[in-house]
Parts: sequence; C-alpha cells; structure tokens
Amino acid sequence: MYIVSACLAGLRTRYDGKDCCNRGVQELVIRGNAIPLCPEQLGGLPTPREAIEISGGDGGSVLDRRARAIGKETGTDYTDNLLKGAEEVLRMASLLKIKKAILKDGSPSCGSTYIKRGRRRVRGVGITTAVLSRAGIEVVSEEDINKIRKALR
Ligand code: SF4
Repeated sequence: MYIVSACLAGLRTRYDGKDCCNRGVQELVIRGNAIPLCPEQLGGLPTPREAIEISGGDGGSVLDRRARAIGKETGTDYTDNLLKGAEEVLRMASLLKIKKAILKDGSPSCGSTYIKRGRRRVRGVGITTAVLSRAGIEVVSEEDINKIRKALR
C-alpha cells in the first residue's frame, strides 16, 4: 500500500485548482493499492491557493527551523500549514502502517527528489517528504511508477 499525492491521482488539489494526473498512480488508487492525500489541503489551505516556495533551504531545513515556506505573491508565511499537512499525512501512514509513498516532484510539500524556486529545479525535498523520510517511510517520485507497477503484478 502507498500514500500518493492526490494531484497525481487526478484530484484537482493543486494550488491553481488543477491536477497533474499520472495514469499509473491513478491506476494504483483504482486498484486499492494507494491512498491519495494532499498535505497542503490537510494543512488547512484552500484550493485554489497562492503558490508557495521554500526560501533558504528545503523541507529538511524547514524541519530544522532554518527555512520557511513563503507565498510567492504576498510573502505570507505558510510554514505552519505545510508542517501540519505533513504531520497529518504521517498520521495516516502510521494508522494504516504504510511504509511507502509516491509524491509529486517539485512541490514545496510533496517534492520527492527536488523542489522549485522560480522556474529552477533545486536539489532537496519538500516538507512532507522530509517528515515521512525521517519517520522511516520510503518516498519515491512519480518517475518510478512503471517500476512500482511491475513489482505489484
Ligand atoms: S501539496 Fe502535493 S498533493 Fe497537494 S497539490 Fe501540491 S503536489 Fe499535489
């Protein structure tokens, strides 16, 4: 069983009210092999919402209180929302004893192998990936979906 980013499963949870559906991930959900969650919604943010970036580091730096999650337009500090959302995802993983997640790359919350700053890809992970990884949950990117589907056959 996997936790997956809700937007990858086709839910319109993105900041701009759209999805980024990955058919393979959606198939996992349809077959009952994955649970879709959106940490930013679980953190209390509306959809659509302001785009957010991590300033001064990545999700791990936020956990270590060395960086913050900031709205790109208004400069609003959304760190507490993104931390709360990440903790809720971890809570669900713990409840269901889920040890693996497929999270959307590039997001300040989900970012499984990189995050974005402006249009640039920056090395590092999102806040939810940092929280799950520190709890011993394996987080991979949607790029790995074909490998995962083969393994489940
Ligand atoms: S926080 Fe994660 S699940 Fe929610 S829209 Fe962004 S990438 Fe998708």
